[in-house]
Amino acid sequence: MKNLFLLTFLLVGVYTVSFGQSDDKVTRMPVIDMHVHVSKVRPGSGPLCPWFLSDMPGADPNEEFNFSNVFNSDCLDPLPAAESDEDLKNQITDRIKTLNMTMVCFGDPGVIRSWMAEVPEGRIIPGISPGQLTVEQFRDSLESGFYKYMSEVAPQYQGMSPSDMSLDPYFAVAEELGIPAGIHMGTGGNGMTNITNAKYRASLGDPFLLEDLLARHPKLKVCVQHAGYPMIEHMIALMGAHAYVYVDISGMIWSYPLDDVKAYVKRLVQAGFGKRIMYGTDFMTWPRMIETSMGVIEHSQFLSADQKRDILFNNAARFFRMDDSDFDWPQ
Ligand SMILES: [Zn+2]
Repeated sequence: MKNLFLLTFLLVGVYTVSFGQSDDKVTRMPVIDMHVHVSKVRPGSGPLCPWFLSDMPGADPNEEFNFSNVFNSDCLDPLPAAESDEDLKNQITDRIKTLNMTMVCFGDPGVIRSWMAEVPEGRIIPGISPGQLTVEQFRDSLESGFYKYMSEVAPQYQGMSPSDMSLDPYFAVAEELGIPAGIHMGTGGNGMTNITNAKYRASLGDPFLLEDLLARHPKLKVCVQHAGYPMIEHMIALMGAHAYVYVDISGMIWSYPLDDVKAYVKRLVQAGFGKRIMYGTDFMTWPRMIETSMGVIEHSQFLSADQKRDILFNNAARFFRMDDSDFDWPQ
């Protein structure tokens, strides 16, 4: 009996150390993840090493492309993929509760609602992209009040500039309704554009391509998703010219070489934009990606405690015009 008590004590102790808090007691400061993709579990997803693009293969078009050379799991502690829809929901909603997180989620609306049912109100902020919707359908969706974010708009994967006029009516609706827009800029390709996505163009991730859009919609608030990585000079110039341009550091934070990720974030802060950088994961299917990505900010020695709080929480709360009363705080 005594041993059982000791075992229980140890297990509870380990749980508390790993997750920081139980459901009813808030011990951690709130964190907002700006970029969470929501879908049913993708069959066949294996484990993945964080910063998996650190050692790109020297491949040859006359040989068969080895995808596992890019999406590799050959590291000390690869991150496992969620095993089922239920497992995915449990792992994410547990993190929302125990890590005191709010997640900005976009993708399958049915799955988003099933996650929302498991967490306190307001902890999931739903987003929607135009996708196949008509402009009127898109307006109706935003006017319903359910969606707070236009995301993820990813014209780069379609070989299109974000300032392409075919997208303009959708951005006009977002501007009119005061809904911020998240636009994928920069990352992608992963060395296999010719094989998996022939329309993708690295050049269409250039942050300068946003300028015509911003000129047409001076009240549109924009998040450049993935921070235009690796086009730092143009990103800095764009942010310098436009006060309503923010960035999220999702995706790049766990996929490109860690030293380069840190150098990129450091450069943005150094250039004066510490109040417009927002933490995000670009979560897809590997739940531990969340604490792995958060750790990059939490353990960055070049950031002050205040700068870390800005990136992990304050900037995103301000981006959505939310305030402290919308969140739970340690007592
Ligand atoms: Zn993206």
